[in-house]
Amino acid sequence: MIARTTHRAELLDGRVAADAIKREVADEVATLKKEHGVTPRLAAVIVGDDPASAVYVRNKIRACAEVGIASEHLPMPAATTTAELLAVVKRLNQDDDVDGILVQLPLPKQIAEIEIIEAVNAAKDVDAFHPMNVGLLALGRPRFVPCTPAGIIELLCRNQIPIEGATACVIGRSQIVGKPVASLLLQRHATVTICHSKTRDLPAVTRQADILIAAVGKPAFVTGEFIKPGAAVIDVGVNQISDPVKAREFFGRDAEKRLEGIEQKGYTLVGDVHPAEADQVAGKRTPVPGGVGLLTVAMLMKNTLQAARWRRGL
Ligand code: NAP
Repeated sequence: MIARTTHRAELLDGRVAADAIKREVADEVATLKKEHGVTPRLAAVIVGDDPASAVYVRNKIRACAEVGIASEHLPMPAATTTAELLAVVKRLNQDDDVDGILVQLPLPKQIAEIEIIEAVNAAKDVDAFHPMNVGLLALGRPRFVPCTPAGIIELLCRNQIPIEGATACVIGRSQIVGKPVASLLLQRHATVTICHSKTRDLPAVTRQADILIAAVGKPAFVTGEFIKPGAAVIDVGVNQISDPVKAREFFGRDAEKRLEGIEQKGYTLVGDVHPAEADQVAGKRTPVPGGVGLLTVAMLMKNTLQAARWRRGL
């Protein structure tokens, strides 16, 4: 239990950084159109009707419109087979007008996810999940950088949080977030520890970190005892909760708006970090929503612009 103090962590607003990145991308897209007659194009494939995935894809398509990138939304039924999805990916690979291909994960169980990831043309792989792009990143010569890890680094840099020499700890070792963000932090000369479900005495490890990144997938998992006083805490998690008692506990004095959300929509979002406790210990923290998720979408726009350039040697 953390002693109650008046300290409150500064919120790292994802919208400010994401809007700045999208403005930069929009300017470059306009220049590309003007000077070369090229409009970058993103194809977003979604299989099934998972509501969270539908929201993510909708946000990505909306962001394309904001920055002047053309987009194609390709919904496929939940019963789609691996062969059917492979055929769509193949068509998009061959379509010269398509610069970026995004296949929204997770895919339904019957689809061989690895086969799909490996089928996407690595030059159009704006999510950076293809083994070629994973390998280049691991070698420190990234082509595309996965959007969420890239967004985390942008958020740190744009808020002048020093990475070089800092002690950084990442909780989570997924291919999508944990491993690549650890790799990027290491490349920027942080001293990096990666933690996971088998880490012993996790809070004792995470409490060493000047920069703590939580990518666990468990609501409010990172409580005050995990956090070094004054640390920058980046909350990657997106979890739905519908229990008003939990909402009160997690959000403390900010709970009222969350309780309204539960009443209206049936849930509210909480990250992997306990916001009320983190507020009392951390120096800075990202909110959920309004933090890392917005950066993820902005970096997808940046990757799609890069793909359009590189494919044409521009
Ligand atoms: P994931 O693939 O499920 O990985 C979770 C990681 O957390 C695993 O490495 C796991 O360890 C570790 N873990 C689980 N329980 C733990 C425990 N008790 N102690 C320490 N480590 C533990 O999840 P992910 O894809 O990385 O996503 C993580 C969260 O980020 C999710 O909430 C997801 O929705 C969110 N997300 C957000 C964005 C965004 O744009 N904001 C993007 C991607 C993901 P093991 O490896 O040992 O099992």
